[in-house]
Amino acid sequence: MADVELRIRNGEVFTNSTLVSADVLVAGGRIVGLVSRDDPRTAFRDIDAKGKWVLPGIVDLHAHTREPGYTYKEDFLTCSQAAAIGGITTWIDMPNVDPPTDTVERFLAKRELASAKAIVDFGHFCGGKNPEEVEKFAAAGASGFKIFQVSGAYPHDPRLAENDSGALLRSMRAIEETGLVCVVHPFNQSLFEQLVAEARAAGEPMNHYTFGEVYTQDAIWRTAVAVLLGLQELSGVRLHLVHTHAAGSLRLLKDAKERGQRVTVEVDPKYYHLSRKDLDEKGPLACPGGYITEDDERMRTIWRSINDGTIDVFGSDHAPHTREDLSVMYRNAFEAAMGSPQYDYLYSLHLTDVFDGKMSLATAVRLLCENTARILGLFPRKGAILPGSDADLVIVDPDETFVATDEGTATRVGWTPYAGWRLRGRVRETLVRGTTVARDGVAIGQPGHGRFVQAVPQRTPPDLGTPLPAQT
Ligand SMILES: [Zn+2]
Repeated sequence: MADVELRIRNGEVFTNSTLVSADVLVAGGRIVGLVSRDDPRTAFRDIDAKGKWVLPGIVDLHAHTREPGYTYKEDFLTCSQAAAIGGITTWIDMPNVDPPTDTVERFLAKRELASAKAIVDFGHFCGGKNPEEVEKFAAAGASGFKIFQVSGAYPHDPRLAENDSGALLRSMRAIEETGLVCVVHPFNQSLFEQLVAEARAAGEPMNHYTFGEVYTQDAIWRTAVAVLLGLQELSGVRLHLVHTHAAGSLRLLKDAKERGQRVTVEVDPKYYHLSRKDLDEKGPLACPGGYITEDDERMRTIWRSINDGTIDVFGSDHAPHTREDLSVMYRNAFEAAMGSPQYDYLYSLHLTDVFDGKMSLATAVRLLCENTARILGLFPRKGAILPGSDADLVIVDPDETFVATDEGTATRVGWTPYAGWRLRGRVRETLVRGTTVARDGVAIGQPGHGRFVQAVPQRTPPDLGTPLPAQT
């Protein structure tokens, strides 16, 4: 065996869907053994994880890094620092920057920017609406493709949007050839525009409440999902749907998956955490909390879908905006930016759900780490703690409760929609390939430590396992 560089001692290690008492041995950036406490091997460096859990790092498929074009909100350094303190060790970002990532040259330029700055591992989704570009992107190393059906004001760039079914089918056929994933933001844009016009004509205030009500109309999402499922059937593409919060969409997807259709389903934390109460208290900073009905029926449906296996993936939708940019929502929500930073407390937010009995630890890790790595074709090198896996590890204190604060964030915009929330399960240390990149809420990784990860094309859909029941 190679010299052991690092030994993480005395922790409870998450492996094969459960916590076990073991020490983790690391060499060359990889896990080389899970051994008993009395194993005699010594290492150059020890970490004492007594009383702590050692979990796989989160592999996140949904971040808006903002570089190039909007670096006053975030760049590859600050995004990766927020990732590191939140327990994300690999992140894939979205193409809606300026210029958008819709040519190979722009993709390569972005990859270079990230390589110099990132402290955790990364990849990039490229715009997928132009079928002629698809093969070139795949050859250059794209993690997959993103198509927005929503189109309009920033961040929903019309240059990345497509609503025409024929055009979508041509893109999906080209993407299917590459074996990479086709990520779609489902949205019936013309129905949305009609409902906005009706709200305006009725004299509704054009603020974040009206926006929330219109934007989240079940029919806008459900009808789009129905079309996309049909196009998937025709193209055979590996379809991955984001923002699936609508009950109607979830019903269609449960049915499609039961019939064996090749589709994976993602939901983002704001939909199963932020409620109408948060929108009242924090305004646009908690948007789209207004999407959640007051009786929380939608939130209950999402949790049921998380636990019955309809939802496969938690995608952060880390989407930082300044408070000033979001304040436009008070008067003109339909022209405003939307979204919120999500990385800084991502692991703790979900561990709190586990301690609250909303899901099992195995489900949290499956949806945050394992399934996302499987979609990229990287499991178990990423998303798992097994011999041979990259030593992407997050050490958390399962007993520590603490209050999330704006001051505790590393995102450039300096705030979190969860400020004031009492969370349990604090991230103490994050390692990427065996190197510590964050400790006690402070990012300490060297810019450039993060490496570009190459997705592995898949010809068959990944096995995403079966959900385990929540333990209370
Ligand atoms: Zn997004």
